[in-house]
Amino acid sequence: MAATGERPADRRLDVRLGDGTDGRYHRQELISWWHQDLLRQARVLVVGAGALGNELVKNLCLLGVGTVVVCDLDSVENSNLARCVFFRPGDDGRPKAQVVAQAAGQLNGDCQVIGVTGDIRLTVGVGLYRQFDLILGGLDNREARLHVNQACWKAGVPWIDGAIEGLMGVMRVFSPPGSACYECTLSERDFELLAARRACSLLTRDEMLAGKVPTVATSSSVVAAMQVAEAVKLLHAAEPSGYEFAGRGVIYNGQTHDHYTVVYPHREDCLSHDSYDLEHAAAVGRDVPFADILHRALHDLGRDAVVELEHELVVDFQCGCGRRDTVLRPAIALRESDAACPACGARRRLTPTHRVDADSPAALLEATPDRVGLPAGDVITLRAGLERTHLILDGTIEGLQLR
Ligand SMILES: [Zn+2]
Ligand SMILES: [Zn+2]
Repeated sequence: MAATGERPADRRLDVRLGDGTDGRYHRQELISWWHQDLLRQARVLVVGAGALGNELVKNLCLLGVGTVVVCDLDSVENSNLARCVFFRPGDDGRPKAQVVAQAAGQLNGDCQVIGVTGDIRLTVGVGLYRQFDLILGGLDNREARLHVNQACWKAGVPWIDGAIEGLMGVMRVFSPPGSACYECTLSERDFELLAARRACSLLTRDEMLAGKVPTVATSSSVVAAMQVAEAVKLLHAAEPSGYEFAGRGVIYNGQTHDHYTVVYPHREDCLSHDSYDLEHAAAVGRDVPFADILHRALHDLGRDAVVELEHELVVDFQCGCGRRDTVLRPAIALRESDAACPACGARRRLTPTHRVDADSPAALLEATPDRVGLPAGDVITLRAGLERTHLILDGTIEGLQLR
């Protein structure tokens, strides 16, 4: 800002020294510990492009984070416009992730923002999580949070969750392997609700979305700002596993402006702490038949070896009328209506499996990961008893250079 009595020559000097005093990131670089290079080199995956996701990407781009991938399966609706800075009325019906990526790229050309349209569980394999320095959650349901949480633990990548309801908000930081994870924070009541929904074998997207909560733009701004503030600190931490806010959360009450931090205990009996040795995992083509992958398991680990998948596959539908149809799709890709028998209309029984072994049906053995819809970067585990190794399916997110 020009001081009173400033001479014209001084202002010219300011302009000439643009990079030093008027560079895009100058004010944040005045923070003593700030390293803009760390942000420029950083890669962040934002899961969800709704109210929180818009704010998360906006903040990341303003800060100059080099690579942002944003993933969402939904399209823009009118009711999103009141909470999402990147959406315009003309975007109605367009994929949220693509709209956010395009608009964010215009906000700051320094940032590469890649939109991925699809269910995070079926578009970004666990092996690809390692391509990111951290994950930011802009999710609205427990199932998706549990998936992201387990994927982060398996891949060893920290994640920062945000949640809003009305004027209330929560921000939590989880950093494997030592901190509490998202599942560690769940109450008995949370587990009851999850179990009730799991009882329905085909959890459809409609049901996932049924629990819409009241939210407002100011709440998403507050919570997303806290998430990205923690992301910046985490990116500056020399050792993310020793990062001091890991396993903690902030509870914010927008009615009273009370807020307080919570330390979550790391629960020894938590089922979400499995971590994979992906450092030494070999790559495998998505077009390699499961029979060949099983053969590799038998060769490497002996005759008791089996192949385990990250996703539960529905092998077939069987109906009381005698009809039987091969499916070979992940259960989460199916809807309740898919279970209706085309012949008689009855609800068919499904045959689920998590593994491929010598007793698997021929159709599964002949199928490939690509054919059954497993995502790029998905992990395939070869196991014999407690001994196991991992394979990572080839492929990446479109536009993302593997590192
Ligand atoms: Zn846990
Ligand atoms: Zn039938």
